[in-house]
Formats: sequence, C-alpha cells, structure tokens
Amino acid sequence: MQNPLENAIKQLMRAAAVKPFPEAFVAQISRPNREVRISIPVLMDDGHLQIFEGYRVEHNNARGPYKGGIRFHPDTDINEVKALAFWMTLKCAVANIPMGGGKGGVTVDPKKLSKRELEELSRGWVRGMAEFLGPRKDVPAPDVNTTPEIMGWMADEFEKISGDKTRATFTGKPIALGGSEGRGSATGLGGFYVFDRLRSKYGISEGSKIVIQGFGNVGGNAAEIFREHGHKIVALSDSKSAIVNENGLDIKALSSYKAENGRIGGFPGSREITNAELLELPCDVLIPAALENQITGENAERIQAKFVLELANGPISPEADDVLLKRNISVVPDILANSGGVVVSTFEWEQNLKNEHWSEKEVFEKLKEILVRESDEVHKVSLETRTDLRRAAFIVALSRISGAMGY
Ligand code: NAD
Repeated sequence: MQNPLENAIKQLMRAAAVKPFPEAFVAQISRPNREVRISIPVLMDDGHLQIFEGYRVEHNNARGPYKGGIRFHPDTDINEVKALAFWMTLKCAVANIPMGGGKGGVTVDPKKLSKRELEELSRGWVRGMAEFLGPRKDVPAPDVNTTPEIMGWMADEFEKISGDKTRATFTGKPIALGGSEGRGSATGLGGFYVFDRLRSKYGISEGSKIVIQGFGNVGGNAAEIFREHGHKIVALSDSKSAIVNENGLDIKALSSYKAENGRIGGFPGSREITNAELLELPCDVLIPAALENQITGENAERIQAKFVLELANGPISPEADDVLLKRNISVVPDILANSGGVVVSTFEWEQNLKNEHWSEKEVFEKLKEILVRESDEVHKVSLETRTDLRRAAFIVALSRISGAMGY
C-alpha cells in the first residue's frame, strides 16, 4: 500500500514546480502544526478492557479553525490522518471558506463493535481530545464510518466537558441536534455541481455513462444525484462486491436491496464483477468514492474512462496522474470535487454560532454559488499555467494559504 502522506507531499512539490512558492512556506505547509495520539479504553460487552489508538492532526489554521472529519477504519494510522489533514487545509482554501485543515481517526473496525461499544469509543475520543477542540479552535466532522449519530454523541460529550452550548464544535450532526439541512448529500451534490460546471470543457455531454466505486454517504448520494440529472450509473461497488448493468442501475431499488441484504452483490438484473474490474470498465466518467490509492501506476494504463471525478480523498497516486494525463484522461481533484461536504459543514458551524437554521434550498444555493465560482477559478488557473486541474487547484489553495500566513 502506498503511503498517502508521501503522495500528498509529491502533489505539493509538483504544483510548486509549476508556480514557485517561498521555500520557507513549502517547508512549513509540508508538516502539520500538531499531531495528537491518544489511547482510548473501552469496556467491551464481554467484560474485557480494550485499548484503541486515536488521532487528531491539526495541520494548518492560518485561514480559520482546524476543520476535518474523523475516520474509523482498521487501516487508519497516523500517516493516513496526516495526509487527510493536509488535503483538508488545501480543500478549505480552494473552496475559500474560513477554515484551516485537520483530520482525526481511530484504528478500529467499527463493524465489529456493538452500538454501546461504538458510543463509548466515540465519547472516549472526545474526552482524550477535548482540550484541543472548540468552535474557534478545531471543528471535527464525519468521514468514513462515522455517522450523524456518532457526531451527536461526540457533540454531547464535548458539551458535558466544556459547557459550550453552541453545538458548533462538531458538524454533520443530526438535524434535531443542530445539524444543517443538506449536510448528508452535500459531498455528492457538490461533486455534481463541480462536474456539471466543468464537463463540457472536457468533452463530456449530458446523459453520460458513469461508474462509481463506493456506495456509502458520498458514492450513494452521488449515484442518486447524477441519475436524477439524466446520467446513467452502469456500475457500482461497495467493500464486499461490485455490480454492473449496462442499461443503468435503479439506485433507489439498490439502496433498499442493500439495506435488506447487507450487500449489493446479487442485485436483480446486474452482473457481479470485482472491484478491480469495476475501475477498468469503459465509461465516460469514473467516480472513485471509497478510499485512497485505488488508481496507481499498476492499473492506470487500463483505465478506460474519459474523465475522473475524485469524490474520495487521494484515490489517484501521482504516478497514475502522470499516466492519465499522458492518455488525455482529465481528473477533477479531490480538494475541489469533494469540497461540498466541508462547505456545508462550515454552513452548519455558522448556523450554530448565529443560532440560525437555514432551509435546504438556501444551503444548496449557497453551495452551488461557491463551487461554480471556485471551479471556474481552478479551470482558469489551469489554462493560465498550462497545467492539469490538480496542480491548478493546489496553486489556487497554496496562494490563498501563503497569503494568510503573510508570505
Ligand atoms: P462511507 O463509510 O459512508 O462509505 C464508504 C464506502 O466505500 C462504502 O460503500 C464501503 O463499502 C466502500 N468501500 C470501502 N472499502 C472499499 C474497497 N476496498 N473497495 C470498494 N469500496 C469500498 O464513507 P464516505 O463518507 O462515503 O467517504 C468516502 C470517501 O469520500 C472517503 O475517501 C472520504 O474521505 C471522502 N469524503 C467524504 C466526505 C463526507 O462528507 N462524508 C467529504 C469529503 C470526502
């Protein structure tokens, strides 16, 4: 497995080779401001005490409080969290929201925990990290395997410890606990707004054939939103299986099927393939929406999509970027394509601080305005600097961060 942190730093250096930034700034932004590791003891249902390792990386807060999700995954480690925190700093700057970058995690397979154990673990993470968190300091959110319910537990634990009643320290909460309308679908919808703004510039027409890896919060919402807008989802996967139907998958029926059966494999009318095969299917648009390092030097030559929209964080390695660029396959980078989630998280934070509740219509209008404007900006910079959209997005972000740091 490639180290996502090494990939992130390579991406930084490649952008800085197109537009130079002060050496001292590049050295500073290459490292997080702070990394915290904690032990979280959880009394398991069988009576034994298990210790889990938890992390928070606060990468950079030049533009606002640290902001970023918390991941619960068996492969999560400090290097992954550092890479994700770095990308968050850049993502918030590309979206031009007043936030810095951070990320958290726990090395755990949450599917093996009971609900009570999961709640204990979530509350334990907050107890260990509380001194670093706060609406003006560090504002976590959901990521892989962390849900609105978990954010609700975390917000409650933080309120008990700190007495802070703003609820603005955690975003992605259930609506009843101060969550924002539209947060659930924000990353998928934001990805659609970015895609729709850029696609015609890269020869992608309406009614395109789409393949999506991942059927969780991001992939599931994206599938439904792209289908509603007239695109055809021909293949989808989750961690257990991948399925294909050339005539287009019925996403609502697939969601119900997964809820009943716990998997998407065997969905009526579809054929089962492997996750590796899914990535290599011929299609107009490939949307990785699961984990990092899915398209690498090993399989990039076999990708048959015309356009890749990175809704996962870090799904394409720098080696694969080179191959795709050479093969004329355009990539919309994660820090732009999946920034809808953090934008609506920031709206949630703002609503909590002002004690307001915005309608879903208002949230989506504001989200669209931001993503259309910043997609245009990244595209303009890519033309001006004659580079790909990833380097261009990095240049936009790094210019804003270095400005805020006084370089
Ligand atoms: P999630 O836990 O809701 O869903 C993850 C999905 O990926 C699940 O369908 C899972 O089955 C699938 N998956 C896991 N391992 C896989 C594998 N090896 N092959 C194929 N599929 C696999 O998580 P999510 O919130 O949808 O996040 C997905 C990606 O999007 C992550 O990279 C995350 O960092 C990124 N992201 C999420 C948000 C957000 O708002 N949730 C925002 C920006 C970026």
